[in-house]
Amino acid sequence: MTARSTQTRVAAVAELESSCLLRPGNTNCGGCGMSIALQLLSRATAGRTVQLVVPPCCGWVTGGNYPHTAYGASVMASTLGSVGAVASGMANVARLNSEKTRVIAWAGDGATYDIGLAALSGAAERDEDVLFICYDNEIYGNTGGQRSSATPSGASTTTTPRGKRGAKKDIVGIMMAHQVGYVATVSLAHPDDAVRKMRFAVDARGFRFLHILSPCPTGWKADSSLSVHLVRLAVRGGLFPVLEARDGALVVNVRPEFSGVALAEYFSHQRRFRSGSVDVADILGAVGRHWAGLERWGARLENGEPLGPIGPQGSAAGPDGGAR
Ligand code: SF4
Repeated sequence: MTARSTQTRVAAVAELESSCLLRPGNTNCGGCGMSIALQLLSRATAGRTVQLVVPPCCGWVTGGNYPHTAYGASVMASTLGSVGAVASGMANVARLNSEKTRVIAWAGDGATYDIGLAALSGAAERDEDVLFICYDNEIYGNTGGQRSSATPSGASTTTTPRGKRGAKKDIVGIMMAHQVGYVATVSLAHPDDAVRKMRFAVDARGFRFLHILSPCPTGWKADSSLSVHLVRLAVRGGLFPVLEARDGALVVNVRPEFSGVALAEYFSHQRRFRSGSVDVADILGAVGRHWAGLERWGARLENGEPLGPIGPQGSAAGPDGGAR
């Protein structure tokens, strides 16, 4: 290899790294869904200036030790409870300074479903110019894997060693009820759809919300090579609906097969679901009821009617969709 071609390669790598939101040297576990999501977000934000707001979740540890950082963008640390408020403030500062910066809140389920829900709801209700992305690993991964309200029923965590009781909270339904400009779910197994949605959400104005099912091999006790496969199985089974709500319409981007075989495989790969802690037939029933609720919401959105409750999310909900 000539010195010139080496220089060219080094320059190309440097350019790639400069546009990459997640650089080599980060501290994420192998196979982390959040790493995959950040790579997709890098493609969506290419050529744009973004600022991230990250609460103390795994996404905060991702950057590594000061003075180094694996993030390829400015990052503001918030508390778990204030990410929506901090992102709102940054978006307003950018607007007052006539900056083109797009502000992205990058939060796990703890800072979205639980501790940060009030500030998130406030930012959505005020229609702040913020893109809020929840990478949902269904636990408090950063602090050792405690249950959150995103944890599905039957999943073993450090605080629910015998399996969580109670269904997963329906955060997408909650955000759709805010009737903000854009709410979508993102499948890591469908990268083109994912990047399209992320890019639209980055460029759009007003409040936007993206929900990503983000496998955590460490907490889910799954092989790190299976993360994308697990998401694909969840989509096939209807457990993770791939959809977007925009302009008064609810669009399903990937039609599920409602496959019990896919769901059985999904659970079998994760040792957090102890033998007997989930019943695939029950879950398929809850998934069906959740999808029926989604269809009703789609009709109401198109008719401009108020949205009622969707019903519990199918993720390992009990026979009645409630506590097991
Ligand atoms: S604990 Fe889970 S979410 Fe956190 S970095 Fe590791 S794999 Fe990712």
